[in-house]
Amino acid sequence: NLTSRLSGVIKTLRGEARLTENNIQEALREVRMALLEADVALPVVKEFIARVKEKAVGKEVIGSLSPGQALVGVVHQEIIALMGGEKADINLSTVPPAVILMAGLQGAGKTTSSGKLAKWLMENKKKKVLLVSCDIYRPAAIHQLGLLASQIGADFFPVQTGQQPKEIASAALSFAKTHFHDVMIVDTAGRLAIDEAMMKEIGELETLLKPIETLFVVDAMQGQDAVNTAKAFAEALPLTGVILTKLDGDSRGGAALSVLHVTGKPIKFAGVAEKLTGLEPFHPDRMASRILGMGDVLGLIEEAQRGVDQREAEKLAKKMKSGKSFDLSDFKMQFQQMKNMGGMSAMMEKLPTQLSQAAQNVKIDDKVIGRTEAIINAMTPQERAKPEILKASRKRRIAAGAGVTVQEVNRLLAQFEQAQKMMKMMSKGGMTKMLRSMKG
Ligand code: GDP
Ligand code: MG
Repeated sequence: NLTSRLSGVIKTLRGEARLTENNIQEALREVRMALLEADVALPVVKEFIARVKEKAVGKEVIGSLSPGQALVGVVHQEIIALMGGEKADINLSTVPPAVILMAGLQGAGKTTSSGKLAKWLMENKKKKVLLVSCDIYRPAAIHQLGLLASQIGADFFPVQTGQQPKEIASAALSFAKTHFHDVMIVDTAGRLAIDEAMMKEIGELETLLKPIETLFVVDAMQGQDAVNTAKAFAEALPLTGVILTKLDGDSRGGAALSVLHVTGKPIKFAGVAEKLTGLEPFHPDRMASRILGMGDVLGLIEEAQRGVDQREAEKLAKKMKSGKSFDLSDFKMQFQQMKNMGGMSAMMEKLPTQLSQAAQNVKIDDKVIGRTEAIINAMTPQERAKPEILKASRKRRIAAGAGVTVQEVNRLLAQFEQAQKMMKMMSKGGMTKMLRSMKG
């Protein structure tokens, strides 16, 4: 990915005091390749590289940063800029009902996103939401949205059999007015490919409904195709924003970088899971970090190199890799490492989202670290290796030894179990590699 390519760049540029046309040329070639591999559209890549070059050349390298790191900084900033810089909020400031029209190809995630967005607006903006389906072409489509509506407790507009999309839309609009809905989300039909009939229909719905938001829903996994579709929709409809779905899939991130450039409209929401809570406001800075690799892994590794006992980290990485069980001694060692790395909260900020969510389930805060160590210290080596032998009498002894209550010992054991699960997850993912790379 972009990160591994860029870390090579950092090495080659080490020791140069300034970014020059010469020393960044190779680096930029790498960046360009990485972007193309990530499925970013060619014109976008060209413009991007030109901008990075302009910003980077002649830039003084400040403080402890190497020129390579400085370049990575410029690239990071430009990736954010490419996605619009700031988070773009949904616009609801109009006389209610604020109509949100959903457009996009079949399978892009319009219906699912309609439900998710309704839930999000109800929970975060305290809005009364009406869900409306104008997808009369597939018998199951209206029902699908109705089901979502009942799952989240949103109101659902009852479509009469035989009603045409335009009739549904205007009936729903009066319904929303008389029932005092703040927001009305209109789901539409999609086709497998763009065709005139579909564009005409959604264009007519747009004219009739005068939506405050016309959101183009697009599947991130479609890469270049997504870009072409986006272009066609942007030409046919006055879009106001984009919902990029299926970011949880193994998309290469390119669509996120190209969409604004092609449509001129910002990504407002991202679909990050199939479930109804899986819609999030889109943050360009977070996406940039994601595209550049795993969270701020570079920063984490740097700090780690200062604080962590390398050999211990290596040992743990090996152990995880060999699939041997993670025991309480390892758990304690992790706590010590966390202390060295500036505490749990500092570390969490730098982990990629998925891992940090897993870690949050463990619910460890900095204050607990000291007490946890005391409890584990009060255990015998055998108990640390095999926590399952800890019955009531042993727990009482340990609690007394550590100066805590038995409940606290129990809580620690529960956290340990969570951590064990987390370690399994991490060893499946990239954590092993990450720990090993801390060696530097
Ligand atoms: P529509 O044809 O545009 O209405 O698409 P649907 O809303 O029916 O979604 C098509 C499929 O994509 C369904 O199986 C959804 O569950 C799935 N889907 C939609 N959004 C997401 C997402 O953000 N993540 C994942 N994993 N699946 C999604
Ligand atoms: Mg649908």
